[in-house]
Amino acid sequence: MLSNPPPWPDGAACAAAVTFDVDSDSILHLEHPDDGHRRVGAQSWLRYDQVAVPRIVELFARLGLRQTFFVPSWCAERYPGVVETIAAGGHEVAAHGYLHELAHTLEPEREHELIRRSADILERVAGRRPRGWRGPLYTFSDRTAGFLAEEGYAYHSGLMGDDVPYVLSTFAGDIVELPVDWANDDWPQFANTMDLDWRTPTRAPERGYEVFEAELDAALAYGGLWIAVWHPFVSGRPSRLRRLEGLIERARDRGAWFAPLEEIAAHVDGLRRSGRWSPRVDRLPYDGAPVRDPHG
Ligand SMILES: [Zn+2]
Repeated sequence: MLSNPPPWPDGAACAAAVTFDVDSDSILHLEHPDDGHRRVGAQSWLRYDQVAVPRIVELFARLGLRQTFFVPSWCAERYPGVVETIAAGGHEVAAHGYLHELAHTLEPEREHELIRRSADILERVAGRRPRGWRGPLYTFSDRTAGFLAEEGYAYHSGLMGDDVPYVLSTFAGDIVELPVDWANDDWPQFANTMDLDWRTPTRAPERGYEVFEAELDAALAYGGLWIAVWHPFVSGRPSRLRRLEGLIERARDRGAWFAPLEEIAAHVDGLRRSGRWSPRVDRLPYDGAPVRDPHG
């Protein structure tokens, strides 16, 4: 089914990660710059991150699992205790914009500055410079890959162009892409917010998990990569989070390799350097100018 799956460590059946985007109320202030602060009801839902993150870190500790948390750097400044809890649990803290800005809406200089500033802030709060970036709302401009390479990021996780890792080649060097898909995002399954204009009919946790586990089954069957893109204020609710332990245990029994994304990226980089596996390489940007009708 997959044309070129990489060899995973110790013959693992697939690589897997449950990643959390700790957006908190950054997304509300970005969407409503003038009156986000007055929407306290919506803030309360998003600030539930402060309740859910310690619970998630505790679950991962019980499972002996280290994973990756993407944090807009404004959230790290505003809620340093949340980031400290994540870092103290041994987890990777990776970057996710400053106030969750959408990459293609930014002037290039501004985008570059936010990528650099986010690394500086996370290094200060988490004690370690981030190695990874996830474009907020999966946005990624024609300049993003080059800026990430320039600023020393090793990988990005948020494009959707393959089932296995691939390489983004830029003027400033290469970075590894660890691709995702909306199928493993908890937002379409469970999010419901009038303030952010997203309505999902309320459904049982099992219905969402059916989708996630179908994706994981396929990754296990074909040697792929499974990355859950979840949010503490969505998937950290007790009814949903209590299903995660079983999902991880069943996948581990079947040979899944769970690791922080920086370790998966380092594995891919090592394979490439040693010549044991050749990933697909995409030169970015795909188009240097607006695409017009060539016959017109
Ligand atoms: Zn986000």
